[in-house]
Amino acid sequence: MHNLTIAELVEGLKNKAFSSTEVTQYLLTRIKSLDTEFNAIITVTEAEALKAAQAADQRLAQGDAPALCGVPLVHKDIFCTHGVRTSCGSKMLDNFIPPYNATVIENFQHSGAVMLGKSNMDEFAMGSSNETSFYGPVKNPWSTDCVPGGSSGGSAAAVAARLAPGATATDTGGSIRQPAALCGVTGLKPTYGRVSRWGMIAFASSLDQGGPMARTAEDCALLLNCMASYDSKDSTSVDRSTPDYSAHLNASLKGLRIGVPKEYFSEGLDPDTEQAVRAALTHYENQGAQLIEISLPNTALSVPAYYVIAPAEASANLSRFDGVRYGYRCDNPQDLQDLYCRTRAEGFGEEVQRRILIGTYCLSAGYYDAYYGKAQQVRQLIKQDFVNAFEKVDLIMGPTCPSPAFKFGSKGNDPVAMYLEDIYTISTNLAGLPGMSVPCGVVEGKPVGLQIIGNYFDEARMLNAAHQYQQVTDWHKLAPEGIQ
Ligand code: GLN
Repeated sequence: MHNLTIAELVEGLKNKAFSSTEVTQYLLTRIKSLDTEFNAIITVTEAEALKAAQAADQRLAQGDAPALCGVPLVHKDIFCTHGVRTSCGSKMLDNFIPPYNATVIENFQHSGAVMLGKSNMDEFAMGSSNETSFYGPVKNPWSTDCVPGGSSGGSAAAVAARLAPGATATDTGGSIRQPAALCGVTGLKPTYGRVSRWGMIAFASSLDQGGPMARTAEDCALLLNCMASYDSKDSTSVDRSTPDYSAHLNASLKGLRIGVPKEYFSEGLDPDTEQAVRAALTHYENQGAQLIEISLPNTALSVPAYYVIAPAEASANLSRFDGVRYGYRCDNPQDLQDLYCRTRAEGFGEEVQRRILIGTYCLSAGYYDAYYGKAQQVRQLIKQDFVNAFEKVDLIMGPTCPSPAFKFGSKGNDPVAMYLEDIYTISTNLAGLPGMSVPCGVVEGKPVGLQIIGNYFDEARMLNAAHQYQQVTDWHKLAPEGIQ
């Protein structure tokens, strides 16, 4: 049962091959027995899940079931869930029980989906390895001495270990695509503004975007159909109708123009990962696509620009955690200053504090123009590189990450080495473009991903390209050893 995809579950539930209560109960039991090892899910909502499954079964019996009725999912612990702790991986919010749902969660509820629990993540989504979570790291189901990627490592590991058929995740600089690549699952970061950010705890507001993770592109299409919506509560939500992503999966790839950026295949890319990505590109050629070498000349500037802009926005967003309104508060504050200082020193982990310090510095009077203003100019150049490229090509493809999953502790003491994990993913966030990762090979026994970048709001074309690739390859079907 745990190997069924979302599409298969929808079909089986509709045909009464099994009930939502059966699937939900089965996966809850599986989470209990397997997740002690992976630590992917930090809150299991057993009672709520069984109640929702029962309600879904009733609707299924009545024959008026919405699209995802009865399908169990896991949600990243960054999405506010009414009455269920939403910690964002931080001690600061360890006691936070939101009085409302994020729009994404509401959308899934309307669609009849069942929430199994909340997935582990890097603290406030800052990280590429899940090592910054207050709840301890998530282990990669492919190799438990390796990281699952981050920040959505809990979601990726849960899907890879078949604890859930799909999960929500968020991506500010690569946090959907990088863990998807490292755990061998399919993940999509939509165009900025496609999925509502309301109720999604903010890290860097101009970069954050929620999106789906599942084992197949077909399943990501089903999840995105539900996640994407115009939301008047999010001022950056784009008022544009949502296409039916599932309806476009079978278009032929003949004549598709694929841009291959030469900057994504240079120094730093592991040769075996490169080989796997090149083999995937050959598959596309065999299906009638045309490969065109392109240049994204400002790629090398993306990491430095991001590490000014993201911390700057984070320092402003995280100022609300001051021990006054909600979340962690230090014991016996002597005065207001002491309350602020100790609450934030005790409630935030090291990486979050580092980002707040960098961001505050970059935004301070006298440095704003030199750092933040400059980084915004570089961001414009990076965006223009893509605008130029998309005049000549329909999609851009390359590696998602420079190498497969790395060992715990190997980059933890070197922030810059960790930041370079996102060298191929960050520029799409800076440009606001959609990007996805699709499993395309196994290196040293661990999965690697092909990244597909699309033009604005061209998620349907990306999903089509990914689905066609998954029709002729089996990488997305491979399970970690011991998980079958
Ligand atoms: N790894 C990047 C960072 O640490 C991106 C994280 C994300 O996309 N949320 O900021």
